[in-house]
Amino acid sequence: TAVAPVIGRFAPSPSGPLHFGSLVAALGSYLSAKAQRGQWLLRIEDIDPPREPVGAADTIRKQLEAFALCWDSEVLYQSQRSERYEQVLAQLLASGAAFHCACTRRELQDNAGRCANHCAEKHLGGQRTAIRLRAPAKTLAINDRIHGLVEIAEHEDIVLKRRDGLYGYTLAVVVDDLDQGITEIVRGADLLTASPLQAQLFRLLGAQPPSYTHLPLVLQADGRKLSKQNQAPAISVEQRLELLHRALRVLGQPVPEAEHPEALLTAATTTWDIAKVPKGPVFELASN
Ligand code: GLU
Repeated sequence: TAVAPVIGRFAPSPSGPLHFGSLVAALGSYLSAKAQRGQWLLRIEDIDPPREPVGAADTIRKQLEAFALCWDSEVLYQSQRSERYEQVLAQLLASGAAFHCACTRRELQDNAGRCANHCAEKHLGGQRTAIRLRAPAKTLAINDRIHGLVEIAEHEDIVLKRRDGLYGYTLAVVVDDLDQGITEIVRGADLLTASPLQAQLFRLLGAQPPSYTHLPLVLQADGRKLSKQNQAPAISVEQRLELLHRALRVLGQPVPEAEHPEALLTAATTTWDIAKVPKGPVFELASN
């Protein structure tokens, strides 16, 4: 029997340039896909315009190219996907998996993240509501290739479309992973606990979830996550070899000798071994 081709992806939110933590996610997902002779796709998760500095998506593409992390096929932009998200929302509303909710943020908070006013039974429609996914009644689980069984018991009625019209991350990420035919999700461990619900949404849409691999988080010396919110520095092109070496070390991989990023990535693809990737977190000084 033919084995389905591997399709991986890197899906940055363009809230700023890539930092070292995002380089680790980009590199890990790239090497995993390429080691299996798969494709590696790039998706720009630009669903939150107020948080996106002008030009950030361009900067990210240029950074990836400079690090020789070349993606296959065309870049997918979430900002162009509204029609498809609406179609899926209609499907989830029709099946009863999602509902219009008029609860305020406060009411939800006071009710452990669940709709407090039986909005689902009222069949509200239209303008002044959010669309929420009905919290699943059972415990949800995924089997992560590094972390093993991950179970989530407490659920909220998470938002799929906000009252102000913005789409929720869970909706966009699952619909896009589904439509792009992603077979493996390799990303930072900050999203580990989001995965059981995302896998459930795949099933609600009649699809088989992809495989999940959550890479070690990179923490600053003070224990905080390297992130755009914490002003992690942008990865600098001048130090690309050194940064790729450091990223390989975070991923527990050998560091091949190479003079160019292209050669380094080719060599690292042949030695990639997921069994060597630590659960993390890994501490790094926040310098670039
Ligand atoms: N866009 C998300 C982020 O930059 C990652 C989404 C994902 O890999 O599923 O944090």
